[in-house]
Amino acid sequence: RAKETGKARCLIYSPRLNGPSEHDISLEAAMFQAVREGEFLLYYQPIVDARTRQIQGFETLMRWKHPALGLVPPVRFIPIAESNGLINLLGAWALKAACVQLKQFQEVAQRPLYMSVNISPRQFRNDKFLDILDDAITFSGVSGDNLVLEITEGTLMIDPVHAESILVRMTERQARIAIDDFGTGYSSLAYLKRFPISVLKIDRTFIKDLPASSKDAAICNAILDLAKHLNLSVVAEGVETEEQMHFIESRGCQYVQGYLTGKPMPAHAALAALSDKTYAALVPTPPAHEPRG
Ligand code: C2E
Ligand code: MG
Ligand code: MG
Ligand code: MG
Repeated sequence: RAKETGKARCLIYSPRLNGPSEHDISLEAAMFQAVREGEFLLYYQPIVDARTRQIQGFETLMRWKHPALGLVPPVRFIPIAESNGLINLLGAWALKAACVQLKQFQEVAQRPLYMSVNISPRQFRNDKFLDILDDAITFSGVSGDNLVLEITEGTLMIDPVHAESILVRMTERQARIAIDDFGTGYSSLAYLKRFPISVLKIDRTFIKDLPASSKDAAICNAILDLAKHLNLSVVAEGVETEEQMHFIESRGCQYVQGYLTGKPMPAHAALAALSDKTYAALVPTPPAHEPRG
């Protein structure tokens, strides 16, 4: 694994000294070491059909297994990698490794699963990004239409003209674009009209207080309505309970990703989940007292 990352192209290092804590600085130093040691790994979280609960794909989620600190969560290290440029190296590795992993998942499951990969603002702006994408597709042999690239509203808003041209080229590779954490960023709805977007991922903050919160219910309903009329798919993120699942499914949300239907897991566990015919059946069926639709 260390070899793979080591092979990746040059490292762009531009330290930002606008006030990281001492802790961040030592974490940052440890990250460069971690790349050389191959301490970064990928977990995969199932994205399931809300109605059948069959696995449709996975989101690739990066993990850092530090020998002393244990698993460092991405909220700790992704912002550092984003500010010092290491994200370009880590992100290119993750995209390629995720495609290779997807190929194996597809071979085992014998069906066209997809892989969703997070692309940070800095990766998206990197002028090598399309080459990196092409390389990942060619090297792994997956088809572009089995790839979903997740970007945030913020990524689109930094430079909409540039964003549009990159997005168009991404879709020329048949890759689909998802808006991650939809509704939490600074953006305008106009971008849904302007850019070639296929998927909205409803942020967990709108899901977690369902079905009790009438405001969150209204927001989810509005997003699902909007998506339906714009012909976009929707993934509800962070579904943890049957009640949330039932709410979202009954409102016509097609896809769900959350602890209820599978936590992020290493590839071998994801493979087991794919092979396990009873995986979907293990999850209880939605309550029967309310009609669907
Ligand atoms: P995200 O892309 O929005 O990913 C979803 C996050 O929600 C993941 O956190 C996932 O573990 C978590 N999650 C999913 N279902 C549930 C649930 O039911 N309950 C709860 N409490 N959490 C749930 P994670 O893995 O810690 O990643 C956090 C963020 O770090 C990601 O948010 C993404 O922005 C970033 N990230 C992770 N991996 C990568 C990567 O490879 N590249 C880039 N650029 N960013 C990454
Ligand atoms: Mg994501
Ligand atoms: Mg998200
Ligand atoms: Mg999120």
